[in-house]
Amino acid sequence: MSYTIINPATEEAGETIEHLSLEQTDEAIDRAKRAQKEWAARNPADRAAALRLFADAVDGDVENLAQLEVRNSGHPIGQARWEAEHVRNVLEYYSATPERLFGKQIPVAGGIDVTFQEPLGVVGVITPWNFPMTIASWGFAPALAAGNAVLLKPAEWTPLTSIRLGELALQAGLPEGLFQVLPGQGSVVGERFVTNPTVRKVVFTGSTAVGKRIMAGAADQIKRVTLELGGKSANIVFADADLEKAAASAPYGVFENAGQDCCARSRILVQRSVYDKFMEYLEPAVKGVKVGNPLDEATEMGPLVHKKHFDSVSSYVPSDAPVAFRGSAPEGAGYWFAPTVLTPDSRNHISATDEIFGPVVTVLPFDDDADAMELANATEYGLSGSIWTRDVGRALRISRGVESGNLSVNSHSSVRYNTPFGGFKQSGLGRELGPDAALAFTETKNVFIPAD
Ligand code: NAP
Ligand code: MG
Repeated sequence: MSYTIINPATEEAGETIEHLSLEQTDEAIDRAKRAQKEWAARNPADRAAALRLFADAVDGDVENLAQLEVRNSGHPIGQARWEAEHVRNVLEYYSATPERLFGKQIPVAGGIDVTFQEPLGVVGVITPWNFPMTIASWGFAPALAAGNAVLLKPAEWTPLTSIRLGELALQAGLPEGLFQVLPGQGSVVGERFVTNPTVRKVVFTGSTAVGKRIMAGAADQIKRVTLELGGKSANIVFADADLEKAAASAPYGVFENAGQDCCARSRILVQRSVYDKFMEYLEPAVKGVKVGNPLDEATEMGPLVHKKHFDSVSSYVPSDAPVAFRGSAPEGAGYWFAPTVLTPDSRNHISATDEIFGPVVTVLPFDDDADAMELANATEYGLSGSIWTRDVGRALRISRGVESGNLSVNSHSSVRYNTPFGGFKQSGLGRELGPDAALAFTETKNVFIPAD
């Protein structure tokens, strides 16, 4: 089995990537097991130094990684550079972990009681196609830092930057077998992470449907899981907000990466008294989004990742869809989809409930604070969201009331390597990034030593 890369902006074919078989996956898992033992036994300062060298290697390859992501995923070049630099930052941040993975000394009678944060062993990381290299690093960097070996299975459509990161790790001197990138199918390589008992944890980012399957499969071996799944996040705009600013930034809260972002604020909820005014401001902002050649430095939005995904997004905008207005997109080759704003009559319209994962946003009116929270929470997802208001008290009350893991006030920020990230409800399980991420790749061991 193999997969031939297609540039989503041009539809040109690129290299063909061979897929691993079940047997090859098992062999990789055995290599990882051996490498992990040696890695975990190393002096913590040596592990820290090795991770810093890996970060340096990524730093030296930022432009190459960015160009690969443009060609494979269609990300605008500026965005792709940010992603490569983010991977370096994540590695640098967690390179401090090996020397700071503290246990506790707990007061007990008759001796001393200490805890150790022991590595799990071999960790499998399964990534989606939307942010291939950043999401991979959220798994592999803290897992390696905590003394584990990591197997990374990239999405079939977007393996190039992951493969390159695997090469850079070796060039930087990480032991052979410690961090292996295994291109292959979800149903073969990904499933094997779940069923092979040597893999002690699966970190999965992707759809809620596959996440449920992985969690169910992991139950068989009480295997640890971290799940980062879908979203249908709300951007809540109150009448007392800076409406012009809220409207000008709203497209960038949902159309970044062509809406192929689990944190996309794909529902804009606007207080009814300012709804018309907001829509007046929103229209030029949406039409102003620069959609085009990802290699052009000024481009803000590229194409969708794949023909299949283009068809899926298109199905949400049939000819009788409640379109308020649309932006523009290039014609001709490439999976281009113009930014689209829908204003359905019903809160139950499919565009208000389904995760479309494309540049399509639904705007709905609400009445008051309670109605805004009810509407924001009327979803099984709970990943991110934004709150626009000049009233600090309201910002706090709504922030506490929205059932979501990552909120921002008067802004759309969501992912920083040094703050925790993850979902409520069916958006996921566990947290990545931030100061505690490495703990999720350890077991706490308690040891008592008597004084006599
Ligand atoms: P997906 O179909 O769930 O695939 C994600 C990954 O899982 C891919 O590597 C896929 O491999 C693999 N996979 C598929 N079936 C599997 C199985 N039975 N066992 C093990 N692995 C399997 O998701 P997607 O379509 O690539 O990505 C879009 C979805 O991801 C959206 O719903 C989005 O919200 C979610 N997402 C969430 C976050 C977050 O942080 N919360 C971030 C990004 C994306 P193949 O490539 O071979 O199918
Ligand atoms: Mg899929």
